[in-house]
Amino acid sequence: NRCHLECSKRRRLYNEVIELKGNIRVFCRCRPLNDEEIAKGSTSVVDFYSAKENELKIKGSNSSEKRFKFDHIFRPEDNQEAVFAQTSPLVVSVLDGFNMCIFVYGQTGTGKTFTMEGTAENRGVNYRTLEELFTVSDKRSDIMRFQLYVSMLEVYNEKIKDLLVEDSNQPAKKLEIKQSAEGTQEVPGLSQVPVYKTDEVWELLKSGSRVRSVGSTNANELSSRSHCLLRVTVLGENLVNGLRTRSHLWLIDLAGSERLGKIQVEGERLKESQFINKSLSALGDVISALASKTAHIPYRNSKLTHILQSSLGGDCNTIMFVQISPSSEDLGETICSLNFASRVRGIEHGPAHKQV
Ligand code: ADP
Repeated sequence: NRCHLECSKRRRLYNEVIELKGNIRVFCRCRPLNDEEIAKGSTSVVDFYSAKENELKIKGSNSSEKRFKFDHIFRPEDNQEAVFAQTSPLVVSVLDGFNMCIFVYGQTGTGKTFTMEGTAENRGVNYRTLEELFTVSDKRSDIMRFQLYVSMLEVYNEKIKDLLVEDSNQPAKKLEIKQSAEGTQEVPGLSQVPVYKTDEVWELLKSGSRVRSVGSTNANELSSRSHCLLRVTVLGENLVNGLRTRSHLWLIDLAGSERLGKIQVEGERLKESQFINKSLSALGDVISALASKTAHIPYRNSKLTHILQSSLGGDCNTIMFVQISPSSEDLGETICSLNFASRVRGIEHGPAHKQV
């Protein structure tokens, strides 16, 4: 029947793509030089000499250069549509029951929030993903019924905060990760909002971002030191054979990866920077353990990796955006971010197969 044909066609297509490239993609996005940098006379250190081959060169001082290769490279002039065009083919795999994670990694100010959240005029991956999921689920409505839910949480200093609360003036509930009877990681008590159409999603995502900044004197500063996780849960029911799927798509704006200068690091900032380093390096460790197919994957070394345990590795798809600044002043951080992303790119876990 048609349903069966469609499902097996899609499965074949995924398997071909996955076998060809593995199920992790690393995209690099470079923001434009900003007005302040231009006024100061900063120059770009990024040479997109071979962007078609997805390679770039970073020009260091004393005419040294380093080359990096990724699955896709976005130049400063590439817009949000261009970014989403590369992302959407994998995103819809969540409707077929695959789990997926999308991360943005990089120094503060390189455009992580711009890529994920975007602005009202230039909406980012989060909104576009939900829009795409609504469109594709509508197209499949004769054979599949889908229900989408959205949750939003923040991980700051290894504490989890629910961002979709009705009353943001109430003290944050303490949330913990628990393992369900099926062995998946759950966060009991986390709000889960059913969503039905695109119009309501933008406001919902905005309200989550507002709650994130409550109680902080400098919203930008706090957001650069915490991880923001948007979770889309998809429940699917095949109307022909009654099979049900439940899958999660995580869209994650990571804390800024910059190293703090020695002078700044004391007291509260020291604790924060240790937590950030711990969770970002735990993420790198988990991914490289998956790549080398080690028996023990150290998911539990941070809240971030522990929550994502069921959505990283196995038959899950992953996209990491490494965000960079073109400015000569950020050269050191840019190299660090590109090195981290290159390490992540080494991963290839087995081909994805999932019955729907
Ligand atoms: P981060 O989340 O990494 O700290 P932001 O997303 O806040 O960085 O970006 C810093 C500034 O740069 C913002 O004003 C944002 O609008 C701008 N920006 C980032 N990336 C781009 C881009 N690709 N095109 C235009 N402006 C950008």
